[in-house]
Amino acid sequence: MSCSKLQGDAELQSRTAGEFNRFEVMQPRFPMRTPPEQRNGARVKSADVAPSGVYLPNNNMLAPHMRSPEYVQLSTAAAVTLGIMSARMHRCECTRCLNLLLTYPAGCRANCAYCGLARHREAERDYADRNFIRVDWPAVPVEQIVDIVARDAANSPFHRMCISMITHPRSDADTVQVLRAWTARIDPQTIPVSILSNPTTMSREDVVRLKELGADIFTVALDAATPAIFDRTRGKGVQSPHKWEKYWEILLIAREIFGAQKFGAHIIIGMGETEREALELVQRLVDLGGHSHLFCFFPEKGSLMDHLPATPRDQWRRVQLARYLMDYAGVRFEQMRFDEAGRITDFGLPRAQLDAVIDAGIAFRTSGCPGKFREDISACDRPYGDSPPSDIASFPFQPDARDLRRIRRQLGIPVIRADK
Ligand code: SF4
Repeated sequence: MSCSKLQGDAELQSRTAGEFNRFEVMQPRFPMRTPPEQRNGARVKSADVAPSGVYLPNNNMLAPHMRSPEYVQLSTAAAVTLGIMSARMHRCECTRCLNLLLTYPAGCRANCAYCGLARHREAERDYADRNFIRVDWPAVPVEQIVDIVARDAANSPFHRMCISMITHPRSDADTVQVLRAWTARIDPQTIPVSILSNPTTMSREDVVRLKELGADIFTVALDAATPAIFDRTRGKGVQSPHKWEKYWEILLIAREIFGAQKFGAHIIIGMGETEREALELVQRLVDLGGHSHLFCFFPEKGSLMDHLPATPRDQWRRVQLARYLMDYAGVRFEQMRFDEAGRITDFGLPRAQLDAVIDAGIAFRTSGCPGKFREDISACDRPYGDSPPSDIASFPFQPDARDLRRIRRQLGIPVIRADK
């Protein structure tokens, strides 16, 4: 049986002569200094406007004084699915994950270079008005969200709920409060809960408490694939407090407390790592018993990396496919081959098997914590969180035949015709 060794393929050779997001290119801007009177949500705190129900971002009003645990923000897709906002989503009826984000007037105190929520934006935009993974996040009382879902949790469109912590002195305590408010009325067996953690402020006791309160999966947004990229985009390089070692400390504690298949890490592809480096990390997570959830780098408007190129689709598709093979098809990093620039040249699987995985399309869907369809289909579909609908990176739905033809072109893996 022929292997999926692609180096003989002329189409692939011309593709690998192209570019990818190299480390030297993916240098964030340095954050500007915020005037003291605009720091820590001072405008919102001093105006102290009382919130009233749902707050829709960017409506030319001063954001009211909203904070967790009474308030959280939720993705536009989740707000539409809940019926709090009306909008049409391109080729999607709903999202299967209710993503909740803690909120404070001072916002996140970290400064991650790729993130729209980062601290350096405080002079420009109130926290509740900042875009995050390409979309607006309305702020809604937690009680209102729980009320809606609790009416009929068993038939809810949501297969999972996720609390995203941010870097704030109150976020550990308030995550506990939001989780308690949810589990008091919604059985976590009916709609399981994930925690997207903020290791910088967390201890072992925090991880244990979340597990005891009913959280199902614990993930760490490592985001950067290597220590150097981590430091440059989330640490000292941008005056941000995060440390690679602390993230790994909490990840390993989560492994111990939550157990195999119940922990994982987020990785953003295209921030300067090679494909080889990204997949070495994926294999390390697999070997630990965890999963990796991939995001395609997109230059978020207002972030310190908004001048940089989105990940080329060929780079993204190769890593997306390889990660799926490692997470769900038992292929190991050592079976794969790479060129001198670290790009995949061989997925380590016989061509017929590789074709079958590509044609199934699941490898190209958004990756994340599982829902109720199958283990390898994420509840967290994040519609258009890492690309515009015109050039989809992570498919929030099952790719159709046309999508798959485009994916194959991006991969440089044409269909082998039977008459050849
Ligand atoms: S900690 Fe998370 S929310 Fe805060 S700036 Fe970094 S990526 Fe954004």
